Amino acid sequence: MRCRSVEIQDGNLICEVDWNRTYEIEKAYPKDPHLQYLNCATAEDLQRFTHAWGPLYLRTTGGADDEWQTGRVERSVAASLADLRRFRAVKGILEAAKGNGDERAALTEFLAADEGDFQFSALYKPGDPPHHQFSLKLWLRIEGSVFDWVQAAPIAQLRVALKYCVEAEVTMPWTGGVRVVPYKGRTKVVPSYRLFTLRDGLAWMIWFDEWNTNPPTVCPACHKVFRPSSFHKMKYCSYPCAHRIAVQKYRQRKKVKKRASAAK
Ligand SMILES: [Zn+2]
Repeated sequence: MRCRSVEIQDGNLICEVDWNRTYEIEKAYPKDPHLQYLNCATAEDLQRFTHAWGPLYLRTTGGADDEWQTGRVERSVAASLADLRRFRAVKGILEAAKGNGDERAALTEFLAADEGDFQFSALYKPGDPPHHQFSLKLWLRIEGSVFDWVQAAPIAQLRVALKYCVEAEVTMPWTGGVRVVPYKGRTKVVPSYRLFTLRDGLAWMIWFDEWNTNPPTVCPACHKVFRPSSFHKMKYCSYPCAHRIAVQKYRQRKKVKKRASAAK
């Protein structure tokens, strides 16, 4: 469901779900809602995103506050931003594992984002490490802070940790299925994924991107996630970004030359 209205009040996103504006998550893929989500940065961005695509999930309680019944969804902005940061960090480690971006920086950001998001989880107990940190420490025999380890570990070891996190996060845990739907007075069968929430749908899109020949990538200049054109290789999202970096590199080269001639 998309939303009729989304407001920010006292640090909460308050959404009114619009039951008349529904869409199918799989069919929305060509519109790249996952890239729209990845490119959100502020509470206002999340407000616009939620208006267009709906809340990430609806809570079923069976009581008077059951969101499927009331259509009213309230989410803390801080928790929503933590969720967004984690989702971006997953894309970050995925890119780092392809050689786009610094591996240590990407893994550090992922572990920090995971820790930040974990604090909003129902399973959170102060002092407990998040699930991935616990596994990594146990498996790679890391003593002390995992963040110190990431800074100092030999690159081969770091890649083992990165591989573990990418493979654990970019998965398709939702099974495929079929739907039997009305057709010409009888029924027909259509294959489908079993995606129950928008959040599952967005995660599925990150995974599904990897089947495509041109998966979305992160612009090294402005950090926007974009889908490169299928016709030519694109490192930057736009001409202005490519131009800005080219000018920067040119100036750096000039500076080095100047310094070299001054030293003579
Ligand atoms: Zn850019």
